[in-house]
Amino acid sequence: MNHNLFDTFAARMRERGNAPFITTREGRHYSYQDALSASAQLAGALTSLGVNVGDRVAVQVDKSPEAILLYLACLRIGGVYLPLNTGYTGDEISYFLKDAEPALFVCRPSDIDTARAIARDTGCPAVETLGTDADGSLMEKAQQSDPRDDIVTLGERDLAAILYTSGTTGRSKGAMLTHRNLASNAETLVSSWHFSAEDRLIHALPIFHTHGLFVACNVTLMAGASMCFLPKFDADVIFDELPKGSVMMGVPTFYTRLVQDPRLTAEVTAHMRLFVSGSAPLTAETHEAFEAKTGHAILERYGMTETNMNISNPYTGARRAGTVGMPLPGVEMRITSRDTGEEVPQGEIGMLQIRGPNVFIGYWRMPEKTREELLEDGFFITGDLAMVDEQGYVHIVGRDKDLVISGGYNVYPKEVEQVIDELPQVAESAVIGLPHPDLGEGVTAVVVPQPGEQVDEAAILNHLAGRLAKYKQPKRVFFVDSLPRNTMGKVQKNELRKRFDTTYH
Ligand code: ATP
Ligand code: MG
Repeated sequence: MNHNLFDTFAARMRERGNAPFITTREGRHYSYQDALSASAQLAGALTSLGVNVGDRVAVQVDKSPEAILLYLACLRIGGVYLPLNTGYTGDEISYFLKDAEPALFVCRPSDIDTARAIARDTGCPAVETLGTDADGSLMEKAQQSDPRDDIVTLGERDLAAILYTSGTTGRSKGAMLTHRNLASNAETLVSSWHFSAEDRLIHALPIFHTHGLFVACNVTLMAGASMCFLPKFDADVIFDELPKGSVMMGVPTFYTRLVQDPRLTAEVTAHMRLFVSGSAPLTAETHEAFEAKTGHAILERYGMTETNMNISNPYTGARRAGTVGMPLPGVEMRITSRDTGEEVPQGEIGMLQIRGPNVFIGYWRMPEKTREELLEDGFFITGDLAMVDEQGYVHIVGRDKDLVISGGYNVYPKEVEQVIDELPQVAESAVIGLPHPDLGEGVTAVVVPQPGEQVDEAAILNHLAGRLAKYKQPKRVFFVDSLPRNTMGKVQKNELRKRFDTTYH
């Protein structure tokens, strides 16, 4: 049996033939048949450039349908797709190329000079370009090369991709994902979220993360559905597409922006069957406001680079605000005590661990980190703290690294943030621990006021006084215009900790 994920996709692609796969607002259109032949052309180009089975293909390009065709071409020939955040600078790219030793680096046409210099310094043998208009040297090579319409036979542990984590808690790590990891998760999501060939996905996410690349594109391919590819989230465009789409996948900031828009109504979303949220916590407030305006309960799910999707609210059944639902079929979960390592009883907070066919096989060239986080019995330590409620729904409480330990007591930032956010003058908040001479860490709140509202430190502290135990109450409250977030909408608490580091010293 061939475990190459492309083998499964190709069967769907042949069946779907002239049915649409990717369309863009500029009128570009790839049917499944087009994608099948374009991936063979690109596979021919990759081969002529010297990419062999197991070789990494590093890609830093702007979002385009052709970037997905390149991903498919890599799968086809057993290459390892390695997408890089479009925001990375030359120095960062240097680090990633040194680390990954790709056989080929595909960059934006405008970056070619820097890319060549970096490739020379890091020993990368080939550089090609790919633009957003089906342009660039790689597309030219694809046209000139003999197409490869074979599909390389692979085992289930062969690598399909190395995906770097978002770097929210430290330097990004390269997660090695196998063909089986990706295939099993896509199959699970198609059935859990009721995907079919009839679906049309509104795709406004970046394609260098799990969410936009694997969750969105693999599920679409596996179901034979279609996608409308948008370069980024733009509310005007989304409102224009909603009446033509059936599913949208978004990060929470998409939804917070949509609920503030008067155009969000039941009518405009009437054609949609599903809204999915993930990558960062969706507030209960946004979930409720969205449902009140549209009648759609957003389906929140939880996943990560190393594992794809693990836990999801149900498609049929209550999608509960502030929770991420239950483990997906085939995914096992356990929650263990930070102190004893034993499993905690239901209702208690602990370290969330995950096991299943979706779990990666290790971090690229980081054997020690792999040993620390991927346990011998197959469970992966996610680094997130979680709790299961009485109905069996999982609540993500925050990151283990963001837990504040003040005077020996554990303070879960989310609990404090939720109480601060109750104040009508507060838009959002982030609670962090800062070095403190007596307490080890001092609980500190960073608050974003609602636009046009006045609120001060005393008002926040007063509000918390009767509601939270003394040790959970912030020692200081700071005000900022916005919280630092990365492209996936994740709050970068590292940056806040750096910024306010000397508060108590
Ligand atoms: P790094 O591992 O480099 O610090 P990262 O963990 O942010 O970065 P990703 O793999 O992109 O990198 O993100 C996975 C993390 O995103 C999860 O561990 C979790 O903290 C968070 N996350 C994803 N979905 C949700 C969700 N629905 N609710 C809360 N947190 C979520
Ligand atoms: Mg992580």
